[in-house]
Amino acid sequence: AGARNPASAGGAVTLTGLGKEYGDFTAVHPLDLTIPEGSFFALLGASGCGKTTTLRMIAGLEDPSGGTVRIGDQDVTGLPPYKRPVNTVFQNYALFPHLDIYENVAFGLRRRGVKSVKGQVEEMLELVELGHLARRKPHQLSGGQQQRVAVARALINHPKVLLLDEPLGALDLKLRRQMQLELKRIQTEVGITFVHVTHDQEEAMTMADTIAVMNAGRIEQLGAPTDLYENPRTTFVANFLGQSNLIEAQVAGTSGDDLLLSVGDGRLAMPTARCVPSVRAGDKLLAGVRPEKISIVHADDAAEVPEGRNKITGRIVDASFIGVSTQYVVNSPWCPELAVFAQNVERDGRLVPGAEVVLHWSPAHTFGLDAAQDIE
Ligand code: ATP
Repeated sequence: AGARNPASAGGAVTLTGLGKEYGDFTAVHPLDLTIPEGSFFALLGASGCGKTTTLRMIAGLEDPSGGTVRIGDQDVTGLPPYKRPVNTVFQNYALFPHLDIYENVAFGLRRRGVKSVKGQVEEMLELVELGHLARRKPHQLSGGQQQRVAVARALINHPKVLLLDEPLGALDLKLRRQMQLELKRIQTEVGITFVHVTHDQEEAMTMADTIAVMNAGRIEQLGAPTDLYENPRTTFVANFLGQSNLIEAQVAGTSGDDLLLSVGDGRLAMPTARCVPSVRAGDKLLAGVRPEKISIVHADDAAEVPEGRNKITGRIVDASFIGVSTQYVVNSPWCPELAVFAQNVERDGRLVPGAEVVLHWSPAHTFGLDAAQDIE
């Protein structure tokens, strides 16, 4: 708790019309975004979507083609990186190889002419749990430990905002998972704004309280992880955060708070409130359902499916047991390659490739997207 610095308050980041063009290529379309003070914010997107460029414009490492960057109530757009109340942690750590860990962390203070650095350095080393390794050189540390040194070195300057550019990219999967929790703990402890760039949706969902999903230089959707997962507004977001089945359907009518859809000669229902476009009878839409929301039974047991469930028939083309679940690929006459992640299915040997099955799920777990979009 000692690392929490009241002087670091005021770390909201406000981007207004911020954009970047390289010649006639637009890397970032003018965007408006407010990152609340003290939040753990993730910019998530595939390679080339403009997330790093956005981060670098906040850092001052890239000049925007237009727009402004404010940190707290200060317009920092024209300021060089070192005059902004931010620090950046990069994927390659960039530690000084000839200095020990203690001196790496002390570096920012010494450069600013701070005389007694001991208390602050020890506090930072304690924050990242490396006090016992203070006298080692960077090459004597693991990748995860080096990354923690980089974080301590950035935080010792008491930035209002810490920018993290794929900081865990060089680590293996297990260490990545550990460091995700570690960074989250550190952020909670210091309480400043973290802006984290990643292409890994699981990483963004584990760490961030708010995620901006970027696609082709624009923010496609902004929200809490659960909100983005439960209520994707575009096919891109539906497929980028986890997997979605998107079934082409036509609006047949309404019933109470539900939309009724026709799919081939079958019927589906979904909450009208979960349909993104406003639709009328006859309109096409994409009915979405997550693979883990679907139950699977053999066609011989179709009578066991409870009333009121959405149902679709098909044939198993692939079944893979992966421990926590069995993953099926099912071809339906109405939709190819439906994905089903099923837990606790009876392994009586009947749910195998070639088997006729009924897939069923709750109408409440169905969301509706604009059919005019390209399916990624
Ligand atoms: P990655 O995860 O691969 O770094 P990203 O989403 O962070 O991808 P950016 O680095 O922001 O993407 O780049 C966005 C787009 O701008 C890319 O298409 C990239 O090729 C282009 N770009 C970046 N820097 C330059 C440059 N200096 N000159 C021309 N184009 C550039």
